[in-house]
Amino acid sequence: MSKTYVVGFPRIGEQRELKKALESYWAKELAFDEVAKVASVLKERHWRYQQDAGVDYISSNDFSFYDTMLDTAVMLGAVPKRFRALKKEEQYFAMARGNDHAAAMEMTKWFNTNYHYIVPELSMNDTYCLDAAKVIGEYQEAKVLGIKTKINLIGPITFLALSKRIDGGDTFELLHKILPIYERLLEEIALLDDEVVVQIDEPVFVRDNAPKVLSLIKPVYEKLASVSSVLKVIVMTYFEHAGEALKILVHTPVWGIGLDFVHGKENLAGLGQIANSDKHLIAGIVDGRNIWKNDMDATLTLLEEISTIMPKERMIVSTSCSLLHVPLTLKYEASMNEEIKNWLSYAVEKLDEVTMIGKIFFEGKSSLSAQEQQFYTDNQKANENRRHSTMIHDNQVEQRVGSITKFQRDGLYEERIKIQREKLNYPDLATTTIGSFPQTAEVRKSRGDYKQGRIGKEAYEAHMKAYIDHCVAIQEKIGLDVLVHGEPERNDMVEYFAELLKGFGFSQNGWVQSYGSRCVKPPFIYGDISRPKPMTVEWITYAQSRTDRIMKGMLTGPVTMLNWSFVRDDKPRDEVSKQIAVALSDEVNDLQNAGIQIIQVDEAAFKEGYPLRKEKSEAYESWAVRDFKLSVAQAYPATQIHTHMCYSQFNDIIHTIEAMDADVISIETARSGNQLLKIFKEVGYKQEIGPGIYDIHSPRIPSVEEIVTQIRLLLEVLPKEQLWINPDCGLKTRKWEEVEPSLLHMVQAVEQVRAF
Ligand code: GLN
Ligand code: ZN
Repeated sequence: MSKTYVVGFPRIGEQRELKKALESYWAKELAFDEVAKVASVLKERHWRYQQDAGVDYISSNDFSFYDTMLDTAVMLGAVPKRFRALKKEEQYFAMARGNDHAAAMEMTKWFNTNYHYIVPELSMNDTYCLDAAKVIGEYQEAKVLGIKTKINLIGPITFLALSKRIDGGDTFELLHKILPIYERLLEEIALLDDEVVVQIDEPVFVRDNAPKVLSLIKPVYEKLASVSSVLKVIVMTYFEHAGEALKILVHTPVWGIGLDFVHGKENLAGLGQIANSDKHLIAGIVDGRNIWKNDMDATLTLLEEISTIMPKERMIVSTSCSLLHVPLTLKYEASMNEEIKNWLSYAVEKLDEVTMIGKIFFEGKSSLSAQEQQFYTDNQKANENRRHSTMIHDNQVEQRVGSITKFQRDGLYEERIKIQREKLNYPDLATTTIGSFPQTAEVRKSRGDYKQGRIGKEAYEAHMKAYIDHCVAIQEKIGLDVLVHGEPERNDMVEYFAELLKGFGFSQNGWVQSYGSRCVKPPFIYGDISRPKPMTVEWITYAQSRTDRIMKGMLTGPVTMLNWSFVRDDKPRDEVSKQIAVALSDEVNDLQNAGIQIIQVDEAAFKEGYPLRKEKSEAYESWAVRDFKLSVAQAYPATQIHTHMCYSQFNDIIHTIEAMDADVISIETARSGNQLLKIFKEVGYKQEIGPGIYDIHSPRIPSVEEIVTQIRLLLEVLPKEQLWINPDCGLKTRKWEEVEPSLLHMVQAVEQVRAF
């Protein structure tokens, strides 16, 4: 009986082998054949992990040299013109990363995860044709090793929903070109064996889809699920409940439907529909998005609840989504606190959870061997320990956070801004930057040396202060109005604060793929959060002491701290966020009392934290706004609060942004002229705004003239009294040779505009 299932597995390798091989290949130090060898080793290792754990449904085609959306584009022959002359891997990586002649394809976030996919470029004028080599090859590669896999594909509806049309128009208009290729692919797959399971991922089904999109589900899956009787077609959804799409899917000839019960509890309400059909249910119950050990007892209760409606014979237990979004194995976490480590479970550890839960659910506890029984008891103990650990619960924090009554700062914006303008006396079109300056090799080395104990605190601080002096001197020379210290002491805007707050933990090897070869190592929040001592005051006040101009203090906001961490699952997210906000509010207070007059609280990840379903947006907005405001609630009316957000599309959320009540917001609009600013005017947005004036993601140095043009465009929309002038985002990834002239041009452009 095949009963346990894993949606997909990470591919980067437990020592990030794939990353290293790819980067050596890109640096021309390694031949592609060698990268392919590394890939084969990894694929086999990952299959064996799953096989050893006893997983019944193991995937092929979940591997990728870069990204599976890109692989799907290649499979469909959707190669943009500018890459067509290139061959094989050269073409593949040029599509992902660009080359001297052609810009890379766009990349964007995969739903509400921190994984980024390549956005396919489609056109009605193009012809598409099947390239099944990778799909077929990976299946056979596993088969040779004695492993029969299910084949993972990204479904046509999700593929089209996430692609863009370069000739204008709706991507779904291309369905008639794409669908036959999927059919041909399935015909080829059907030749592989007597029976093949195909998992077709349609995560787009968990969004609020337009009726037009929903109307495609039936015709598409009627076709795809009846290509061959050899195939068992599973439509996989994850990250949310499948809602309306489920109602339609049950009336198509698919064999199975995957639902996420961790992030889409509402799926429970749809169970009757599956029960009344002949479909199999792939029940996602082990969290593929978080690193906590599964609470097996709670999960078994959930499964029993499901099975009161759904016949067990048609149930399969699974991860909630691909394990791509969690690190690979705890094996290398040698220096982690043992108690905390015992609460965690990465991809490899989750495999055993899936199979053990499956065994108990389908065969009963009495079927467990002594060793399996031990696994189960250990799981119960670990969960029990976590529930009661003193490391998690801090009464003082709970009391303080529970008794907060002041949720916002004193004074209305209109009153505050008058006081601030008078006190700070900055000009219209005031110039500033977003915070970080280039993280040079020396800066990074010094931070690393200090962390590894190769240099002492004094030497380290002297290095950092020298760098801050350098940043101050350059900014004064350029003539910026509001300065920053440059953030040299920060490796990362979240990790820096996480390390200084109680309640955050860190891994040594908890890497998660972000895009291509890039990985991130998010901190995790395991306990109640508090601030043992000030986190930025020394650095900022030092920087302020070096100049007569205004020095802006720089913090990362509560919502961003939360969205870029693995968050504890034993407390609602909004409560965790509130704790961070309270800790930050003390920092704001300390900064202002130390003489800092402008404080920026970055909310780079505010928008990406939005739920996938509209019905949940309001709840998110209400606590996210509450906690941003709470984090600055102690600010005096005279203290100017800035915020920064790394995007530009504010149309849907403009009222929420307004409600955050920041005095000044800087946003990322450089690539869109004044178009995206119009919404601020339309709604009568009162607060001051710094629309990014040049794109920091490119090494290009903008000329004075083009910045002048850009400023004039902004002035067509908003008055000079309301505008600040700044780059798009932080400058840490740029070089000084780019930053200095760019900022100088920015200041010169402002002077020109002011003069007329
Ligand atoms: N202050 C941060 C910086 O400049 C902001 C970065 C961000 O929002 N991504 O680096
Ligand atoms: Zn930014």
